[in-house]
Amino acid sequence: MVRAWIGLGANLGDAASTVSAAIEALDGLAGTELTRASLLYASPAWGNQDQPPFVNAVACVQTELPPLALLDALLALEAGFGRVRDPAVHWGPRLLDLDLLLYGDQVIDLPRLQVPHPYLHQRAFVLVPLAEVAPDLVIPGHGRVRDAVMQVTASGIVPIRR
Ligand code: AMP
Repeated sequence: MVRAWIGLGANLGDAASTVSAAIEALDGLAGTELTRASLLYASPAWGNQDQPPFVNAVACVQTELPPLALLDALLALEAGFGRVRDPAVHWGPRLLDLDLLLYGDQVIDLPRLQVPHPYLHQRAFVLVPLAEVAPDLVIPGHGRVRDAVMQVTASGIVPIRR
C-alpha cells in the first residue's frame, strides 16, 4: 500500500457538494481507502479569471493501485462527475478536477503523469488545505508543506462548511 495525496477542485454547479461527493468516491476506488481529507476551501478563480470561484480540498488515500492506474481511476471519476473537456478552453470552468499530487515519496516523469504535480509547490489553493492536514509532509524537491505554504499568497482562500 502506498500513501497518495489527491487535489480536488470544482467551480460549476454545487461545487461544494461535488467535491464532498468526490472525496467519498475516492474511498470506492479499487484497492483504495480514504484516510484523510481537508476541509473544503473557497478560492478565487485562477488562470482564466472570468469564471466562478473554486471549491478546493485535498484528500489522502492508501492505495494498491500503481501510479498510472490511480491516474486513470481519477480521470474516470472526473468523467463520471460529468466534466466536459473542451480543448478550446484551457483552465476554464469544470465540474470536477482531480490531480494526483503525491504518490508516496516517488518522483515520476512520464508523458501522462508528473509527480509531484508540477504546480503543487506554487498553488496556494493546494498548499493551504495540505498545510491544514499534513504540514510536515515533504514535497520531493521542494521541502516541507509548512515552508512551501509560506512562499505563496494565501489570501482569499477560506474554509467553508461542507
Ligand atoms: P488538467 O485537467 O488540466 O489538470 O490536465 C489533466 C491531464 O494532465 C491528464 O490527462 C494527465 O495525463 C495529465 N497529468 C500529468 N500529471 C498529472 C498529475 N500529477 N495529476 C493529474 N493529471 C496529470
